[in-house]
Amino acid sequence: MSFVDKSIKCSDCGATFTFSAGEQELFAKRGYTNDPKRCPWCRALRKTQDNSFSGYSGPRRQMFPAVCAECGKGTEVPFEPRGGRPVYCSDCYRKVSLAR
Ligand SMILES: [Zn+2]
Ligand SMILES: [Zn+2]
Repeated sequence: MSFVDKSIKCSDCGATFTFSAGEQELFAKRGYTNDPKRCPWCRALRKTQDNSFSGYSGPRRQMFPAVCAECGKGTEVPFEPRGGRPVYCSDCYRKVSLAR
């Protein structure tokens, strides 16, 4: 079985990309029978999005422990609490920001 370079239109961004003979061979070896629908860029983008959607537990934003100024519950905030500004847990933050 021989492969030739193919031009495929990405179903996401509409760009035309080359599905090279080498890639096709790789695909076939892995048992994939369908051509890719997306350009490599969109595939990579999708991968990172999928990861964050499925509770991917890789590197994420550092969280700082804090005490909620409203209910006194311990919470975590994505910034370092300082400067005397009140910090709220997510529940109270919603309440406080709605009350404004
Ligand atoms: Zn694309
Ligand atoms: Zn609270």
